[in-house]
Amino acid sequence: MPETLRKKIIQRYELLDSYDLGLAPLMDALATLYEVPVALVTIADEDRSVVRASYGTTLTSMPQSTSLCRHIIDCGQPLVIEDLSLEAESAALFEGMGNEAFRFYTGVPLQIEEVVVGTVCLFDRSPRCITAKQIESLEQISHLVSNHLCLVKEHVQLKLEHSLLDSSPAVLLTWHYKNCLLLQSVSRNIKDVTAIEYAQLIEHDACFEDFLTVESQQEFGFWLQNHLDGVENAECHLNIKHPTRTVWLRMLSKAFFDQNGKLHSIQAIITDNTAHKYMEDRLSGTNKQMRLLIEASGLGTWDWNIIADATKVNKRWCDILGVDHDFYDGTSQFWRQRIHPADLSKVDDALDSHLCGRSEAYMSTYRLKHGDGHWVWVETYGCVVERNELGQPLRLAGTHRDITERKEAELFQQKQGQLLSFINNARAAYLVDNNLPRACQAILPELIDIADSQFGFIGHLIEEQGKRRLLIHAISELSWNSTSEQLLDLYKGGELYFDSFDNLFGEVIKSGEEVISNRMHVHTSSRGTPGGHPPIFSFLGLPIYIQDRLVGMIGLANKAEEYSHKDVVFLQPLLDALGGLYYAVELEHARSEAEERLKYLAMTDALSGLPNRRAFIDHCRSLEKEGAPYAIAIIDIDHFKVVNDTYGHEAGDAVICHIAQCMKSNLRTDDFVARMGGEEFAVIINHTERDHAEKVLENIRCYIDSNPAKWEKKPIHVTVSIGANWYRKASMQNLKRHLHDADKALYMAKNSQRNCLQWYVQTLVDASTTHDEPQKKAQNRH
Ligand code: GH3
Ligand code: MG
Ligand code: MG
Repeated sequence: MPETLRKKIIQRYELLDSYDLGLAPLMDALATLYEVPVALVTIADEDRSVVRASYGTTLTSMPQSTSLCRHIIDCGQPLVIEDLSLEAESAALFEGMGNEAFRFYTGVPLQIEEVVVGTVCLFDRSPRCITAKQIESLEQISHLVSNHLCLVKEHVQLKLEHSLLDSSPAVLLTWHYKNCLLLQSVSRNIKDVTAIEYAQLIEHDACFEDFLTVESQQEFGFWLQNHLDGVENAECHLNIKHPTRTVWLRMLSKAFFDQNGKLHSIQAIITDNTAHKYMEDRLSGTNKQMRLLIEASGLGTWDWNIIADATKVNKRWCDILGVDHDFYDGTSQFWRQRIHPADLSKVDDALDSHLCGRSEAYMSTYRLKHGDGHWVWVETYGCVVERNELGQPLRLAGTHRDITERKEAELFQQKQGQLLSFINNARAAYLVDNNLPRACQAILPELIDIADSQFGFIGHLIEEQGKRRLLIHAISELSWNSTSEQLLDLYKGGELYFDSFDNLFGEVIKSGEEVISNRMHVHTSSRGTPGGHPPIFSFLGLPIYIQDRLVGMIGLANKAEEYSHKDVVFLQPLLDALGGLYYAVELEHARSEAEERLKYLAMTDALSGLPNRRAFIDHCRSLEKEGAPYAIAIIDIDHFKVVNDTYGHEAGDAVICHIAQCMKSNLRTDDFVARMGGEEFAVIINHTERDHAEKVLENIRCYIDSNPAKWEKKPIHVTVSIGANWYRKASMQNLKRHLHDADKALYMAKNSQRNCLQWYVQTLVDASTTHDEPQKKAQNRH
């Protein structure tokens, strides 16, 4: 047996301590029973055996080396010496027994936890016999001593624990259960912990539950029922009736059951839970307040366990995204796959930056896809709420705020600003050169961009001879194929028309209303795209009006999202502006037409349709620039007064028109004839030699002579007299004189037989006033 183990047990059981082991009566009984004068209980110490209980001696210890006790400890067996005088070798063992002359000794080992720690032994001064049965009984007594020592130790320990418990903040209660709870024991500190008087509970036969509030009595009832139902460990929170303060108790209990499983007893530990309960109430109050606040603020909340990749969200979080809370799966993938592709890297950066500790909080504004497909703008704010011992993030929690309305209003405002600015640019561009196609082409790329579209065109509705066509002022640069190159060429030449309205944009023209189609294949009018045109998935057609008159349209296609009525509202200012521009173009067109008409009227003789005197002068002015040789002639109807007088004025008018026609049909297009007034005409034959001019004028005269006018189916024969002159170079400065000279020649013709051509002859009239070489020869026709 190792000595160290023995020592440890002796120490643990405090067998060498000086307190009374309470074995004196047993020693007394032992001496009497075995009829010996001395009985001892010894415990082994380092160098001696210590007497811890005795009868019949004052001996307190024996030296180890020689003691009988040591002998028993070492061999672990009973030792019997019936007569020492017969066993001389054992004499040494009796040394240390003082002056006493003992002849008889019997000892048995004293064992604790199967380790010999001492002896129980008997001495006598006379030799004697002892039976095996007696030794066996002594061993049993030793066994009892051992049990006693253990119980003493336990008792001491329990007393210590009880005294500790009495000064602790926990109360120990024990109930027995026999149809009802019977309180068995309770710690003395019950008043300190629960405010219940110990005496009241124990001495006055009160029940513990009598001290509880009504609600807590109910709770106590549930608790007991749980144990009755077989629950071994339970916990409940109880409130004590108290006149001045609230006392909350926390009770942890353990039930004990008999072999039949029936409740036998309950042990409970009660602690004062008032402060904790107070904090808990406050916390739950604060939590409730927080929850109400969060609900009222419309915030979605999320709490992401990063390691487990599990996220808890509140109902509002799901509502924002149109997700059924019951089907929310909690993985980060569920959330990530809803992020708008254009925002994904932004969100990842913000998240990484916070998780790596570079930013105080995780903040971002981005789009998430709603259950019904549209995008929701959310503003998120979160931070790490739990880290491991290495500082790595374990949990990230935060909120979502739906800012779609605000964001859309912002974007709308921003886009509308952009829209207004390019509308102004278009107006300015138009004012610079009145070129509507160019203005439309200038705004189209911005229009397509602002409308998030891929393609677009701006068309102008033109009506010609009752047929309506859409003139395309601007269309997006499309990589059309060779079959559509022709169309592209037409477009570049400003002559691209869409004239079949049996398609989507035609629907706009036919109905005069906007057309929105996000699912082209199901739209009744989704056909008629020019060959080679890239596929169109969605279309928005918007009519352009001047007041109530449809004048054109805008077509847009392939928006990233869906076209909606919002786009129509948003683009209305552009439609109005284009309507304004179209109106300005119409006004400009009408103005220039009126101007042309006025000019025409101012330059044209209303009766014959020939240019008038003013036009004649303008023409002469233009001739001057050319500086070419020309002939000028005045042609006058002979005896026209007679026509009027004979057939009437209207007949005279008809004759004037006839003469005008005759002259036109005998002149080249670059010759010129004007009615100068009355029945007098002027002719200019440009780039001509005199001979040629003479031929032309003679042709006119002959033609008139041989082609009578008709009035009321009757011929009216008239002739004309022609006075003419030829010049090497047209001169505005000398126009008046040239006319005058021709007039003089005419005068000469009239003075001869009429119906003739008379060239001006200077010598006859006024040779001194002309710079041009006069024509000496007059050619009269007879
Ligand atoms: P002569 O051969 O000398 O030229 O004789 P004449 O009768 O043609 O010339 P005169 O100057 O005496 O008469 C011209 C007439 O032409 C007078 C006028 O009533 C007439 N006349 C002038 N303008 C018009 C017109 O627009 N319509 C008609 N029906 N008659 C006109
Ligand atoms: Mg005349
Ligand atoms: Mg005349």
